[in-house]
Amino acid sequence: MATVLVTGGAGYVGSHACKALKAAGHVPVVFDNFSTGWRGAVRYGPLAEGDLLDPAALDRVFAAHAIDAVMHFAALSYVGESVRVPLAYWRNNLAGTLSLLEAMTRHGVGRIVFSSTCATYGEPAGTVLTETDAQAPINPYGQSKLAVERMLADTAAAHGGSHVIFRYFNAAGADPYREIGEQHVPETHLIPLVLDAVAGKRARITVFGTDYPTPDGTCIRDYIHVTDLADAHVRGLEHLLAGGGSLALNLGSGSGHSVRAVIETAAAVTGLPVPAEDGPRRPGDPARLVSGSGLAEARLGWRPRRSDLRTMIEDAWAWHRTGGFEA
Ligand code: UDP
Repeated sequence: MATVLVTGGAGYVGSHACKALKAAGHVPVVFDNFSTGWRGAVRYGPLAEGDLLDPAALDRVFAAHAIDAVMHFAALSYVGESVRVPLAYWRNNLAGTLSLLEAMTRHGVGRIVFSSTCATYGEPAGTVLTETDAQAPINPYGQSKLAVERMLADTAAAHGGSHVIFRYFNAAGADPYREIGEQHVPETHLIPLVLDAVAGKRARITVFGTDYPTPDGTCIRDYIHVTDLADAHVRGLEHLLAGGGSLALNLGSGSGHSVRAVIETAAAVTGLPVPAEDGPRRPGDPARLVSGSGLAEARLGWRPRRSDLRTMIEDAWAWHRTGGFEA
């Protein structure tokens, strides 16, 4: 049993990781500033409210709990926003992680599981992305996450810590028991927006680009169920606790789905029409991002279990119909 500091534990992926940690017998201590998280999502362990950029708040949480390892989710994560306000991304994602790593060093904690992103690869040269592909991000969000990856490597080399870096593809779905789920303000992600359109909470969904070099002309993404991501995090943690060395692993399903396929599947799952219109491309969107590696399975025994598109949309729809967290 480990006590795990979970930064961003009130957020989408972080809260699902907390549930999985508790189910595996660990204690998740949530550290969150509630800039985007939800109080209703903190239900699997103690809460320490605070900001990564506040060293005293970090010192307090490390002093109050015997932390064995850290899972670091807290970050800003919108590609488009990162282009508009890059310094907010460098501050939160890079300076925030720097502050966290300094606190870990002060308190003698060396193990960390870090949420990185397939956006660190930039425009893929081939049809699938593997961990050995060059990392050349094309937006400040991806740049900030790649910088943290490098900071982790330098820190481990100097101080002997170990880390698991997970490069997520598109997180989707919700807790199958409807305790927690995806909720962003404003919402920008495809599946929740499609479900909002189905439910009449927005007039329609706009398809961003229909002239991509893909079979139906719309962008292809690799959607991965959030509970599969959470399972990978527990495995990554246990790998580190067992003395395993540092790893960097993609977390995707290996299957790509177009925007049109998502819309059609949402119509099938809900039994309702999806009001949709075609629109121009969204700047910065690569045509196709799909994970092409079994490295997470080889190293951690991890395999996606709920990441077929229909199950992800069913779980997201069941959560959507609960009405979500209270503001
Ligand atoms: N997308 C879309 N309409 C929307 C939101 C997203 O067509 O209103 C497309 C977007 O261009 C991308 C895919 O859906 O190809 C997934 O976008 P999302 O923002 O969910 O995730 P991202 O891939 O940017 O991390």
